[in-house]
Amino acid sequence: MTATPAVPVPADHLMGVYSRTPLAFERGEGARLYTAQGEAYLDCLAGIAVNALGHANPKLVQALKDQADKLWHVSNIFTIPGQEALATKLTDACFADVVFFSNSGAEAVELAIKVARRRHWAKGQPERIDIIGFDGSFHGRTIAAINASGNESYLEGFGPRLPGFIQLPFGDLDALKAAVGPTTAAIIIEPVQGEGGARSASDAYLKALRQLCDESGTLLIYDEIQCGLGRTGKLFAHEWVDGALPDIMCIAKALGGGFPVGACLATAEAAQGMTFGTHGSTYGGNPLAMAVGLAAVEELTKPELLAHVREVAGYFVQQLSGLQEQFPDVIEDVRGKGLLIGIKLKTPNREFMQHARDQHLLIAGGGDNCVRLLPPLTLTLDEAREAIGKLEQACSAARVRAKSAS
Ligand SMILES: *Cc1c(COP(=O)(O)O)cnc(C)c1O
Repeated sequence: MTATPAVPVPADHLMGVYSRTPLAFERGEGARLYTAQGEAYLDCLAGIAVNALGHANPKLVQALKDQADKLWHVSNIFTIPGQEALATKLTDACFADVVFFSNSGAEAVELAIKVARRRHWAKGQPERIDIIGFDGSFHGRTIAAINASGNESYLEGFGPRLPGFIQLPFGDLDALKAAVGPTTAAIIIEPVQGEGGARSASDAYLKALRQLCDESGTLLIYDEIQCGLGRTGKLFAHEWVDGALPDIMCIAKALGGGFPVGACLATAEAAQGMTFGTHGSTYGGNPLAMAVGLAAVEELTKPELLAHVREVAGYFVQQLSGLQEQFPDVIEDVRGKGLLIGIKLKTPNREFMQHARDQHLLIAGGGDNCVRLLPPLTLTLDEAREAIGKLEQACSAARVRAKSAS
Protein backbone atom coordinates (compact mmCIF):
# COMPACT_ATOMS: atom_id res chain seq x y z
CA MET A 1 0.00 0.00 0.00
CA THR A 2 1.40 3.39 -0.94
CA ALA A 3 0.73 6.15 1.48
CA THR A 4 -0.66 9.33 -0.06
CA PRO A 5 1.60 12.18 1.02
CA ALA A 6 -0.26 14.31 3.50
CA VAL A 7 -1.24 17.78 2.35
CA PRO A 8 -0.08 20.15 5.06
CA VAL A 9 -2.79 22.01 6.95
CA PRO A 10 -2.06 25.73 7.09
CA ALA A 11 -1.59 27.05 10.62
CA ASP A 12 -4.31 29.69 10.12
CA HIS A 13 -6.83 27.15 8.76
CA LEU A 14 -7.63 29.47 5.88
CA MET A 15 -7.49 28.52 2.20
CA GLY A 16 -4.29 29.99 0.90
CA VAL A 17 -5.81 32.17 -1.81
CA TYR A 18 -4.32 35.40 -0.51
CA SER A 19 -0.74 36.44 0.03
CA ARG A 20 -1.42 38.41 3.19
CA THR A 21 0.93 40.74 4.97
CA PRO A 22 1.20 40.01 8.70
CA LEU A 23 -0.18 43.49 9.36
CA ALA A 24 -3.49 43.48 11.30
CA PHE A 25 -5.61 46.43 12.36
CA GLU A 26 -7.78 46.89 15.38
CA ARG A 27 -9.66 50.05 14.54
CA GLY A 28 -9.93 52.83 12.02
CA GLU A 29 -11.00 56.43 11.89
CA GLY A 30 -11.30 58.43 8.70
CA ALA A 31 -8.23 57.68 6.60
CA ARG A 32 -6.27 56.18 9.52
CA LEU A 33 -5.93 52.58 10.55
CA TYR A 34 -4.45 51.58 13.90
CA THR A 35 -2.79 48.33 14.92
CA ALA A 36 -3.42 46.77 18.32
CA GLN A 37 -0.13 48.35 19.39
CA GLY A 38 -1.51 51.77 18.44
CA GLU A 39 0.65 52.30 15.37
CA ALA A 40 -1.10 54.52 12.82
CA TYR A 41 -1.16 53.97 9.04
CA LEU A 42 -2.46 56.32 6.37
CA ASP A 43 -4.98 54.30 4.39
CA CYS A 44 -4.81 55.07 0.66
CA LEU A 45 -6.48 51.86 -0.45
CA ALA A 46 -9.66 52.00 1.65
CA GLY A 47 -10.46 48.28 1.54
CA ILE A 48 -9.97 48.46 -2.25
CA ALA A 49 -12.27 51.44 -2.85
CA VAL A 50 -14.84 50.27 -0.28
CA ASN A 51 -14.40 52.63 2.67
CA ALA A 52 -15.15 55.64 0.48
CA LEU A 53 -16.42 57.63 3.45
CA GLY A 54 -13.52 56.66 5.67
CA HIS A 55 -13.37 54.21 8.55
CA ALA A 56 -15.97 54.41 11.30
CA ASN A 57 -17.85 57.18 9.53
CA PRO A 58 -20.21 58.43 12.26
CA LYS A 59 -23.25 58.60 9.94
CA LEU A 60 -22.79 55.05 8.71
CA VAL A 61 -22.10 53.76 12.22
CA GLN A 62 -25.27 55.41 13.48
CA ALA A 63 -27.37 54.07 10.61
CA LEU A 64 -26.12 50.54 11.27
CA LYS A 65 -26.63 50.77 15.03
CA ASP A 66 -30.13 52.20 14.71
CA GLN A 67 -31.15 49.48 12.30
CA ALA A 68 -29.44 46.75 14.34
CA ASP A 69 -31.70 47.59 17.28
CA LYS A 70 -34.82 47.28 15.13
CA LEU A 71 -34.61 44.57 12.50
CA TRP A 72 -31.77 42.72 10.78
CA HIS A 73 -33.37 40.46 8.28
CA VAL A 74 -36.68 39.42 6.86
CA SER A 75 -37.11 37.70 3.53
CA ASN A 76 -37.48 39.23 0.11
CA ILE A 77 -40.99 37.77 0.12
CA PHE A 78 -41.84 40.80 2.28
CA THR A 79 -41.77 44.44 1.33
CA ILE A 80 -38.52 46.02 2.51
CA PRO A 81 -39.06 49.79 2.67
CA GLY A 82 -35.31 50.48 2.72
CA GLN A 83 -34.94 48.78 -0.68
CA GLU A 84 -37.60 50.96 -2.20
CA ALA A 85 -36.05 54.08 -0.68
CA LEU A 86 -32.52 53.24 -1.88
CA ALA A 87 -33.71 52.12 -5.32
CA THR A 88 -35.54 55.44 -5.71
CA LYS A 89 -32.46 57.39 -4.61
CA LEU A 90 -30.22 55.53 -7.05
CA THR A 91 -32.55 55.62 -10.04
CA ASP A 92 -33.21 59.34 -9.45
CA ALA A 93 -29.46 59.86 -9.74
CA CYS A 94 -28.79 57.93 -12.95
CA PHE A 95 -30.07 56.40 -16.20
CA ALA A 96 -31.66 53.37 -14.53
CA ASP A 97 -35.32 52.58 -13.83
CA VAL A 98 -34.98 49.45 -11.70
CA VAL A 99 -32.55 47.92 -9.21
CA PHE A 100 -31.83 44.52 -7.68
CA PHE A 101 -29.71 44.45 -4.53
CA SER A 102 -27.01 41.83 -4.06
CA ASN A 103 -24.39 41.18 -1.40
CA SER A 104 -21.31 41.69 -3.54
CA GLY A 105 -19.97 42.97 -6.80
CA ALA A 106 -19.61 39.59 -8.45
CA GLU A 107 -23.27 38.81 -7.77
CA ALA A 108 -24.25 42.10 -9.39
CA VAL A 109 -22.19 41.11 -12.45
CA GLU A 110 -23.83 37.67 -12.53
CA LEU A 111 -27.20 39.34 -12.57
CA ALA A 112 -26.20 41.84 -15.26
CA ILE A 113 -25.36 38.89 -17.51
CA LYS A 114 -28.67 37.21 -16.71
CA VAL A 115 -30.59 40.45 -17.33
CA ALA A 116 -28.95 40.90 -20.74
CA ARG A 117 -29.47 37.35 -21.96
CA ARG A 118 -33.00 37.18 -20.63
CA ARG A 119 -33.97 40.44 -22.35
CA HIS A 120 -33.01 39.02 -25.75
CA TRP A 121 -34.81 35.78 -24.90
CA ALA A 122 -37.93 37.75 -23.97
CA LYS A 123 -37.75 39.54 -27.32
CA GLY A 124 -37.60 36.30 -29.25
CA GLN A 125 -33.84 36.17 -29.78
CA PRO A 126 -32.65 33.39 -27.44
CA GLU A 127 -29.53 32.91 -29.57
CA ARG A 128 -28.12 36.21 -28.36
CA ILE A 129 -26.02 34.98 -25.44
CA ASP A 130 -22.49 36.28 -26.09
CA ILE A 131 -20.99 38.61 -23.52
CA ILE A 132 -18.03 40.56 -24.88
CA GLY A 133 -15.42 41.67 -22.35
CA PHE A 134 -11.94 43.19 -22.56
CA ASP A 135 -8.44 42.25 -21.58
CA GLY A 136 -7.25 43.61 -18.26
CA SER A 137 -10.82 43.79 -16.98
CA PHE A 138 -11.97 42.45 -13.63
CA HIS A 139 -15.55 41.53 -12.88
CA GLY A 140 -15.27 39.30 -9.81
CA ARG A 141 -14.51 35.71 -8.90
CA THR A 142 -17.66 33.67 -9.48
CA ILE A 143 -17.62 31.27 -12.41
CA ALA A 144 -19.48 33.64 -14.74
CA ALA A 145 -17.48 36.65 -13.57
CA ILE A 146 -14.11 34.98 -14.21
CA ASN A 147 -15.34 34.06 -17.68
CA ALA A 148 -16.29 37.68 -18.32
CA SER A 149 -13.00 38.99 -16.89
CA GLY A 150 -10.02 39.65 -19.12
CA ASN A 151 -7.41 37.70 -17.22
CA GLU A 152 -6.81 34.10 -18.31
CA SER A 153 -5.11 33.22 -15.03
CA TYR A 154 -8.39 33.53 -13.12
CA LEU A 155 -9.77 30.65 -15.22
CA GLU A 156 -6.83 28.26 -14.91
CA GLY A 157 -7.89 24.92 -13.49
CA PHE A 158 -11.54 25.86 -13.26
CA GLY A 159 -12.65 24.06 -16.40
CA PRO A 160 -13.04 25.31 -19.91
CA ARG A 161 -14.07 28.87 -20.71
CA LEU A 162 -17.86 28.85 -20.73
CA PRO A 163 -19.62 29.27 -24.04
CA GLY A 164 -20.97 32.77 -24.57
CA PHE A 165 -17.96 34.75 -23.35
CA ILE A 166 -15.64 36.57 -25.73
CA GLN A 167 -12.51 38.55 -24.87
CA LEU A 168 -11.18 41.42 -26.97
CA PRO A 169 -8.31 43.91 -26.63
CA PHE A 170 -9.23 46.97 -24.53
CA GLY A 171 -9.74 50.02 -26.71
CA ASP A 172 -9.66 48.27 -30.10
CA LEU A 173 -12.81 49.45 -31.83
CA ASP A 174 -12.17 47.58 -35.09
CA ALA A 175 -11.85 44.26 -33.28
CA LEU A 176 -15.10 45.01 -31.50
CA LYS A 177 -16.96 45.92 -34.66
CA ALA A 178 -15.81 42.67 -36.23
CA ALA A 179 -16.90 40.64 -33.19
CA VAL A 180 -20.40 42.03 -32.66
CA GLY A 181 -22.89 39.85 -34.49
CA PRO A 182 -26.25 38.09 -34.36
CA THR A 183 -25.37 36.12 -31.21
CA THR A 184 -24.07 39.11 -29.22
CA ALA A 185 -26.05 39.84 -26.05
CA ALA A 186 -23.98 42.51 -24.35
CA ILE A 187 -20.68 44.30 -23.98
CA ILE A 188 -19.33 44.59 -20.44
CA ILE A 189 -16.74 47.22 -19.60
CA GLU A 190 -15.35 49.15 -16.65
CA PRO A 191 -15.29 52.81 -17.77
CA VAL A 192 -12.11 53.00 -15.70
CA GLN A 193 -10.44 49.65 -15.12
CA GLY A 194 -9.60 48.98 -11.49
CA GLU A 195 -7.63 45.78 -10.85
CA GLY A 196 -6.24 45.89 -14.39
CA GLY A 197 -4.19 48.96 -13.47
CA ALA A 198 -6.41 52.08 -13.53
CA ARG A 199 -6.75 52.25 -17.29
CA SER A 200 -9.43 54.71 -18.36
CA ALA A 201 -11.46 54.12 -21.52
CA SER A 202 -11.35 57.20 -23.75
CA ASP A 203 -14.46 59.32 -24.21
CA ALA A 204 -14.46 58.56 -27.93
CA TYR A 205 -14.27 54.83 -27.26
CA LEU A 206 -17.23 54.83 -24.85
CA LYS A 207 -19.28 56.91 -27.29
CA ALA A 208 -18.42 54.52 -30.09
CA LEU A 209 -19.42 51.58 -27.89
CA ARG A 210 -22.80 53.15 -27.23
CA GLN A 211 -23.33 53.78 -30.91
CA LEU A 212 -22.31 50.27 -31.86
CA CYS A 213 -24.69 48.88 -29.24
CA ASP A 214 -27.56 51.00 -30.57
CA GLU A 215 -26.92 49.93 -34.14
CA SER A 216 -26.69 46.23 -33.31
CA GLY A 217 -29.29 45.93 -30.56
CA THR A 218 -26.55 44.99 -28.09
CA LEU A 219 -26.87 45.89 -24.43
CA LEU A 220 -24.13 47.95 -22.82
CA ILE A 221 -23.14 46.92 -19.29
CA TYR A 222 -20.93 49.17 -17.19
CA ASP A 223 -19.11 47.62 -14.29
CA GLU A 224 -18.80 50.65 -12.01
CA ILE A 225 -18.17 48.55 -8.93
CA GLN A 226 -14.82 50.24 -8.36
CA CYS A 227 -14.99 53.45 -10.42
CA GLY A 228 -18.57 54.39 -9.51
CA LEU A 229 -20.16 56.19 -6.57
CA GLY A 230 -17.98 59.27 -6.55
CA ARG A 231 -14.57 57.65 -7.00
CA THR A 232 -13.76 59.62 -10.17
CA GLY A 233 -15.25 62.91 -8.98
CA LYS A 234 -18.63 62.34 -10.63
CA LEU A 235 -21.26 60.11 -9.07
CA PHE A 236 -20.66 57.60 -11.87
CA ALA A 237 -17.55 57.47 -14.03
CA HIS A 238 -19.56 57.37 -17.26
CA GLU A 239 -20.98 60.82 -16.46
CA TRP A 240 -17.65 62.26 -17.67
CA VAL A 241 -18.75 61.33 -21.19
CA ASP A 242 -21.80 62.77 -22.93
CA GLY A 243 -23.94 60.33 -24.83
CA ALA A 244 -22.54 57.12 -23.40
CA LEU A 245 -25.16 55.85 -20.97
CA PRO A 246 -25.34 52.11 -20.32
CA ASP A 247 -28.39 49.87 -20.31
CA ILE A 248 -27.24 47.98 -17.24
CA MET A 249 -24.77 48.93 -14.49
CA CYS A 250 -23.18 47.11 -11.58
CA ILE A 251 -22.17 48.86 -8.39
CA ALA A 252 -20.98 47.61 -5.00
CA LYS A 253 -17.84 48.51 -2.98
CA ALA A 254 -18.55 52.10 -1.84
CA LEU A 255 -22.30 51.42 -1.75
CA GLY A 256 -22.09 50.04 1.79
CA GLY A 257 -18.89 51.79 2.83
CA GLY A 258 -17.72 48.45 4.25
CA PHE A 259 -21.05 46.74 4.81
CA PRO A 260 -21.47 44.08 2.10
CA VAL A 261 -23.95 45.26 -0.52
CA GLY A 262 -24.05 45.49 -4.29
CA ALA A 263 -26.63 46.34 -6.91
CA CYS A 264 -27.49 45.73 -10.52
CA LEU A 265 -29.28 48.69 -12.10
CA ALA A 266 -31.02 48.68 -15.46
CA THR A 267 -33.45 50.49 -17.68
CA ALA A 268 -36.94 49.01 -17.65
CA GLU A 269 -36.39 48.06 -21.29
CA ALA A 270 -33.23 46.10 -20.53
CA ALA A 271 -34.77 44.43 -17.49
CA GLN A 272 -37.98 43.38 -19.23
CA GLY A 273 -37.10 39.68 -19.02
CA MET A 274 -36.65 39.73 -15.25
CA THR A 275 -40.09 38.59 -14.28
CA PHE A 276 -41.33 36.70 -11.23
CA GLY A 277 -39.11 33.74 -10.40
CA THR A 278 -36.15 34.61 -12.63
CA HIS A 279 -33.82 35.77 -9.84
CA GLY A 280 -33.54 36.05 -6.08
CA SER A 281 -31.25 36.27 -3.09
CA THR A 282 -31.66 35.38 0.56
CA TYR A 283 -29.66 38.26 1.94
CA GLY A 284 -29.66 40.70 -0.97
CA GLY A 285 -31.06 44.05 0.11
CA ASN A 286 -31.70 43.12 3.72
CA PRO A 287 -32.65 45.89 6.15
CA LEU A 288 -29.14 46.26 7.60
CA ALA A 289 -27.56 46.66 4.16
CA MET A 290 -30.25 49.09 3.06
CA ALA A 291 -29.91 51.28 6.16
CA VAL A 292 -26.16 51.62 5.60
CA GLY A 293 -26.54 51.97 1.82
CA LEU A 294 -29.05 54.79 2.24
CA ALA A 295 -26.75 56.68 4.59
CA ALA A 296 -23.78 56.11 2.26
CA VAL A 297 -25.56 57.22 -0.92
CA GLU A 298 -26.89 60.28 0.90
CA GLU A 299 -23.25 61.32 1.47
CA LEU A 300 -21.83 60.11 -1.86
CA THR A 301 -24.32 62.13 -3.91
CA LYS A 302 -23.42 65.43 -2.21
CA PRO A 303 -21.98 67.88 -4.77
CA GLU A 304 -19.49 69.14 -2.14
CA LEU A 305 -18.05 65.67 -1.75
CA LEU A 306 -17.69 65.20 -5.52
CA ALA A 307 -16.05 68.62 -5.83
CA HIS A 308 -13.69 67.66 -3.00
CA VAL A 309 -12.73 64.46 -4.86
CA ARG A 310 -11.89 66.47 -7.97
CA GLU A 311 -9.80 68.91 -5.95
CA VAL A 312 -7.80 66.24 -4.12
CA ALA A 313 -7.41 64.26 -7.35
CA GLY A 314 -6.06 67.36 -9.10
CA TYR A 315 -3.50 67.78 -6.35
CA PHE A 316 -2.43 64.14 -6.64
CA VAL A 317 -2.07 64.30 -10.43
CA GLN A 318 0.09 67.42 -10.20
CA GLN A 319 2.28 66.08 -7.40
CA LEU A 320 2.63 62.63 -8.92
CA SER A 321 3.81 64.03 -12.22
CA GLY A 322 6.42 65.90 -10.18
CA LEU A 323 7.48 62.61 -8.60
CA GLN A 324 7.59 61.01 -12.03
CA GLU A 325 10.05 63.71 -13.17
CA GLN A 326 12.08 63.27 -10.00
CA PHE A 327 12.10 59.45 -10.25
CA PRO A 328 11.96 58.53 -13.96
CA ASP A 329 13.79 55.31 -13.06
CA VAL A 330 10.94 54.29 -10.73
CA ILE A 331 7.70 55.75 -12.15
CA GLU A 332 6.80 55.01 -15.76
CA ASP A 333 3.29 56.45 -15.93
CA VAL A 334 0.53 57.99 -13.83
CA ARG A 335 -3.02 57.29 -14.93
CA GLY A 336 -6.61 56.70 -13.91
CA LYS A 337 -9.39 59.13 -13.07
CA GLY A 338 -10.24 61.05 -9.93
CA LEU A 339 -9.21 59.12 -6.84
CA LEU A 340 -8.72 55.90 -8.79
CA ILE A 341 -5.07 56.53 -9.48
CA GLY A 342 -2.64 54.09 -11.04
CA ILE A 343 1.12 54.48 -10.85
CA LYS A 344 2.83 52.23 -13.35
CA LEU A 345 6.27 51.36 -12.04
CA LYS A 346 9.60 50.34 -13.50
CA THR A 347 10.48 48.55 -10.27
CA PRO A 348 8.42 45.60 -8.92
CA ASN A 349 5.05 46.83 -7.61
CA ARG A 350 4.96 44.34 -4.70
CA GLU A 351 8.26 45.73 -3.43
CA PHE A 352 7.00 49.27 -3.82
CA MET A 353 3.93 48.46 -1.70
CA GLN A 354 6.31 47.27 1.02
CA HIS A 355 8.38 50.47 0.75
CA ALA A 356 5.13 52.43 1.19
CA ARG A 357 4.14 50.27 4.17
CA ASP A 358 7.54 50.98 5.70
CA GLN A 359 6.40 54.64 5.61
CA HIS A 360 3.07 53.61 7.17
CA LEU A 361 1.25 54.29 3.93
CA LEU A 362 -1.16 51.67 2.59
CA ILE A 363 -1.63 51.43 -1.18
CA ALA A 364 -3.10 48.75 -3.44
CA GLY A 365 -1.45 46.66 -6.12
CA GLY A 366 -2.76 46.35 -9.63
CA GLY A 367 -2.21 44.70 -12.99
CA ASP A 368 0.43 45.87 -15.46
CA ASN A 369 2.93 46.41 -12.59
CA CYS A 370 0.89 49.26 -11.15
CA VAL A 371 0.17 50.37 -7.66
CA ARG A 372 -3.14 52.09 -7.05
CA LEU A 373 -4.16 54.91 -4.78
CA LEU A 374 -7.80 54.46 -3.75
CA PRO A 375 -8.07 56.64 -0.66
CA PRO A 376 -11.31 57.44 1.12
CA LEU A 377 -13.07 60.16 -0.87
CA THR A 378 -13.01 62.20 2.32
CA LEU A 379 -9.18 62.29 2.37
CA THR A 380 -8.15 65.84 3.25
CA LEU A 381 -5.61 67.88 1.28
CA ASP A 382 -3.29 67.67 4.29
CA GLU A 383 -3.54 63.90 4.24
CA ALA A 384 -2.94 63.91 0.48
CA ARG A 385 0.20 65.98 1.09
CA GLU A 386 1.30 63.49 3.72
CA ALA A 387 0.70 60.61 1.27
CA ILE A 388 2.84 62.32 -1.37
CA GLY A 389 5.68 62.77 1.16
CA LYS A 390 5.52 59.06 1.98
CA LEU A 391 5.40 58.13 -1.70
CA GLU A 392 8.52 60.20 -2.28
CA GLN A 393 10.28 58.20 0.45
CA ALA A 394 9.02 54.97 -1.13
CA CYS A 395 10.38 56.08 -4.52
CA SER A 396 13.78 56.77 -2.94
CA ALA A 397 13.78 53.32 -1.34
CA ALA A 398 12.80 51.71 -4.66
CA ARG A 399 15.64 53.55 -6.40
CA VAL A 400 18.19 52.42 -3.81
CA ARG A 401 16.98 48.85 -4.08
CA ALA A 402 17.06 48.88 -7.89
CA LYS A 403 20.63 50.22 -7.83
CA SER A 404 21.85 47.65 -5.33
CA ALA A 405 20.26 44.87 -7.41
CA SER A 406 21.94 45.93 -10.65
C1 LIG B 1 -14.23 44.41 -6.79
C2 LIG B 1 -14.77 44.33 -8.15
C3 LIG B 1 -15.66 43.32 -8.53
C4 LIG B 1 -16.04 42.18 -7.63
O1 LIG B 1 -16.69 42.59 -6.46
P1 LIG B 1 -16.79 41.56 -5.24
O2 LIG B 1 -17.60 42.32 -4.22
O3 LIG B 1 -15.41 41.26 -4.79
O4 LIG B 1 -17.49 40.36 -5.73
C5 LIG B 1 -16.17 43.38 -9.81
N1 LIG B 1 -15.84 44.35 -10.67
C6 LIG B 1 -14.99 45.34 -10.33
C7 LIG B 1 -14.67 46.42 -11.32
C8 LIG B 1 -14.40 45.35 -9.08
O5 LIG B 1 -13.53 46.31 -8.76
